[in-house]
Amino acid sequence: MKVLSVASEVFPLIKTGGLADVAGALPIALAPLGIAMRTIMPGYPVVLEKVGKMRRVADFPDLLGKPARLLFAEHAGLDLYVIDCPGLYDRDGGPYVDKTGKDYLDNWQRFAALSRVASDLANGLDPDWAPDIIHGHDWQAGLAPVYLKYSEVGTHTPSVLTIHNIAFQGQFSPLIFPALGLPPAAYSVDGVEYYGDVGYLKGGLRTAWAITTVSPTYAEEILEPEFGMGLEGLIGERARDLIGIVNGIDDDVWNPETDTHIPVNYTHASLDRRARNRAAIEKRFGLAATDGPIFCVVSRLTWQKGIDLVIELADEIVAHGGKLAVLGSGDPVLEEGIRAAAARHPGRVAIVFGYDEPLSHLMQAGADAILIPSRFEPCGLTQLYGLRYGCVPVVGRTGGLSDTIIDANGAALAAGVATGIQFSPVDRHGFAQAIRRTLRLFEDKPAWTGMQTAAMKSDVSWQTSAGQYASLYKTLINRVAVP
Ligand code: ADP
Repeated sequence: MKVLSVASEVFPLIKTGGLADVAGALPIALAPLGIAMRTIMPGYPVVLEKVGKMRRVADFPDLLGKPARLLFAEHAGLDLYVIDCPGLYDRDGGPYVDKTGKDYLDNWQRFAALSRVASDLANGLDPDWAPDIIHGHDWQAGLAPVYLKYSEVGTHTPSVLTIHNIAFQGQFSPLIFPALGLPPAAYSVDGVEYYGDVGYLKGGLRTAWAITTVSPTYAEEILEPEFGMGLEGLIGERARDLIGIVNGIDDDVWNPETDTHIPVNYTHASLDRRARNRAAIEKRFGLAATDGPIFCVVSRLTWQKGIDLVIELADEIVAHGGKLAVLGSGDPVLEEGIRAAAARHPGRVAIVFGYDEPLSHLMQAGADAILIPSRFEPCGLTQLYGLRYGCVPVVGRTGGLSDTIIDANGAALAAGVATGIQFSPVDRHGFAQAIRRTLRLFEDKPAWTGMQTAAMKSDVSWQTSAGQYASLYKTLINRVAVP
């Protein structure tokens, strides 16, 4: 079976969040199941540079108004189609925002182009390869099922759209519609029309054959207004075609036994070796070498991630002998809040601003616990890395955090299956209680190491989830066979 994955970021080429990890890992996990997944992505400068020499597949004199080429190469175990279109992708900033953090004004065009070429591939653009299924990710690929539905060639390739975060919807002025090259009928409730605008995610959710999201709990949550962010009605109508499949992690990249980013490798049988990694964190962050637990945060610094709660609780963590090391960047107000906490508590609270992949590995390998007080979390990956590395996750009970962590309540501890601390409601009071509970457990060494061991043994691989995607693809292909 041949599947085309449509993604705006793919690890190890470019990454701003969990989507890249998933897009990079899923093709590799599906291969043993007989699924050949190719990936199409934009040709950002860093991507073209990393991939190097590529074969030309097609030329576009006019791809949404710009000249472009479609290239192909194998890279890092991935079969990649890259859209080389300097007019859309040759920029200094990130994949979505410029250097000052502002969305590119032509994002509607940049990601319509991605979906357009994906749909062309389904319709025979590459004479050597055509997908049986198109699998798009997030709003950036939302138009792929729309283009397929309204295409004149109409090969009726089944489509899957995965929601990694419904907060980002790709909503644009209706003035862009004529430039998308869709027939007028596509500007309707059955297509991309969304409260008088053009909605990319909305259009994708309306037209994809199946919708997935990245955990079973989030799949239920987005049926509610609190989490659905305006799309709950539409998702409710499509509930029969919606399924939650939890993410796995790439356990070659994230493996404490072999990780080359950390000073000392270890297993669940040699947890004491983590002490050297812990000391490396203290050195890197300028934290005092005291016995109390190191709580870490590796995150976008946003309201979604509950970073304001971390700031509020910093004093309490320090008062109880804990330390806090934060790696991240984001909302300037939150950045300032952490900076202020660090200034109040030198040697106890510290932050490294920015994005640092190697340091994110060290944090998981050396910190005692990772704080993830998210208000909503479609799946979350950092808690999965925490499990794998024995960095105990302290998580809000929502979305994928709810599905992947077994709370250290009395029964779970007694049975030796607890893997972290869950709390709700996700507010200051709930989080404070969770921190206190974590501090108490940390004092109880057998309980703590028992929890770390259970965490490290839990299955966070892609195997189960890849099987679920494979059966979804099979169901859709069989549906085609039915007249
Ligand atoms: P989201 O995609 O909502 O940001 P996830 O938990 O799904 O959250 O994925 C976040 C990914 O980005 C993880 O791989 C995490 O390790 C990584 N990450 C987040 N912030 C940083 C940072 N400042 N430096 C390095 N990696 C980071």
